[in-house]
Amino acid sequence: MEKKQFKAESKRLLDMMINSIYTHREIFLRELISNASDAIDKIYYRALTDDKLTFEKDSYYIKIESDRENRMLQITDTGIGMTKEELEENLGVIAKSGSLAFKSENEMKDGCDIIGQFGVGFYSAFMVADKVRVTSRALGSDAAYRWESDGLDGYTVEKCEKDSVGTLIELKIKENTEDENFDEYLDQYSIKSIVKRYSDFIRYPIKMEMKESRLKEGSSDEFEEYVEENTLNSMVPIWKKNKSELKDEDYEAFYSEKRYGFDKPAKYIHLNVDGTVSYNAVLFIPEKIPYDFYTKEYEKGLELYSSGVLIMDKCSDLLPDYFGFVKGMVDSDDLSLNISREMLQHDRQLKFIAKNIKNKIKNELSNLLKNEREKYESFYSEFGRQLKYGIYSDFGMNKDVLKDLIMFHSSKENKLVTLGEYVSRMPEDQKYIYYAAGESVDRIEKMPQTEMVADKGYEILYFTDEVDEFAIRMLSNYEDKEFRSVSGSDIGIEDESKKEGSSDDESGENNGIFEKMKEMLSGSVKAVRASKRLKNHPVCLSNEGELTIEMEKILSAMPN
Ligand code: ADP
Ligand code: MG
Repeated sequence: MEKKQFKAESKRLLDMMINSIYTHREIFLRELISNASDAIDKIYYRALTDDKLTFEKDSYYIKIESDRENRMLQITDTGIGMTKEELEENLGVIAKSGSLAFKSENEMKDGCDIIGQFGVGFYSAFMVADKVRVTSRALGSDAAYRWESDGLDGYTVEKCEKDSVGTLIELKIKENTEDENFDEYLDQYSIKSIVKRYSDFIRYPIKMEMKESRLKEGSSDEFEEYVEENTLNSMVPIWKKNKSELKDEDYEAFYSEKRYGFDKPAKYIHLNVDGTVSYNAVLFIPEKIPYDFYTKEYEKGLELYSSGVLIMDKCSDLLPDYFGFVKGMVDSDDLSLNISREMLQHDRQLKFIAKNIKNKIKNELSNLLKNEREKYESFYSEFGRQLKYGIYSDFGMNKDVLKDLIMFHSSKENKLVTLGEYVSRMPEDQKYIYYAAGESVDRIEKMPQTEMVADKGYEILYFTDEVDEFAIRMLSNYEDKEFRSVSGSDIGIEDESKKEGSSDDESGENNGIFEKMKEMLSGSVKAVRASKRLKNHPVCLSNEGELTIEMEKILSAMPN
């Protein structure tokens, strides 16, 4: 039987592919620059094994030129170039990746710097261009060839002239249509910002001649235009630099350059992890809460880079909600990307990194608490509520991570204390951790229910955030000490007078008055009873059952 090859309608396939895999058109530039960078990398790797070749970093670069009038955009590189055959194979066959082949031929391991692997990125140029022309001269060859295509019906390859080794890509940028604007791909400032956004950390300079204007010499109002060649990318990312070479200011500059916030970071964490999954990360704990932090609009997440190329702006899987205030980025060579390089194929590596990062943040916060108390307190005043929500949410799954990071106002210390500090000070006869919930520290201080506990010399934690009591319920105990609300029906303090055997309550002689009181309060209370808990106040409220009065208030205020 004769075996036939599948045939594909290439134009349709190309269309389908291009328009379905990418969500942002501007990434075509990321793809072409990545290819250029790969091409230079290949010379570099060749030079490592071939004595006749030298690699002088300065002579390798990527250059972008735009010509508005003719709607032409050019990307030149001084990389390894392509032979006629390579042009046909790599650009003529969809999903053929010369870079992937290069990696396996040279037995380069997965974590190497070469970016290409799917053999489709190049075609993203057709999202913005009607016509693409690639002129290339391969390393070690005198001949140059030109590949040209309008993305519709095939391509042509012809011999041509080219002075130096490398590749020139020319795009004829599409005309604007009623609802699509392509001009930005010709505008030097837009180009610069696209490069900065996706390709800032490509290791070779990405140059562009930019037209600028300046005051004419000796004049105060006449301007002149001049052209200056700028390098658009920063090349060496801060996270790949040696920590010992970096100063606080460098991290602060990175923080503001990245627009992580308008404040200064309270703390930064720089990680270079080598292991099962290798990655670099720079994380920041902001000083000030972002204005939209407690709104729906706030999106947590870290920037995710793969081999220095931006993949995702806000990768939310990298941060648990309770650390959602952390800003920063992660770069790993070990991610398995999907074909658009906008998403990941497996989240195994990501999960690994996320777990790692979570622990690092926790440790950093613990250290801050231990060593820089004041700084921690100001951090806590901004983000403490988030940590408490963290304990409460996910059915208490994260309580072990968080229980030592939370603090409450203490009746004794008159400042924030941790649960550990509270427990370490507990007198021997004290069985429970006492708390009182209320609107504010002032209000709680005036609560009659606190008197008895305070009289015993016990410390009381003041819960002023709505979430406090819910979080503590989730914890249920700290170092085996249970929590008790001072307004609860059983505060677990042995009643002195009871021991003497005189109790008004039991005698029942006041029951008549109590019934009357209850009647007068017309159903607002369940019962009126004599209490042993009061000293200077005639009356206090107390609850029975699971929910405390404060919790009931919160729950009844919640929309159903
Ligand atoms: P990928 O980069 O994933 O391999 P592309 O579609 O972006 O896929 O590119 C296909 C192939 O074309 C690359 O693998 C590479 O071999 C070749 N190529 C593309 N651009 C260049 C370039 N500027 N210089 C040399 N080779 C290139
Ligand atoms: Mg590519």
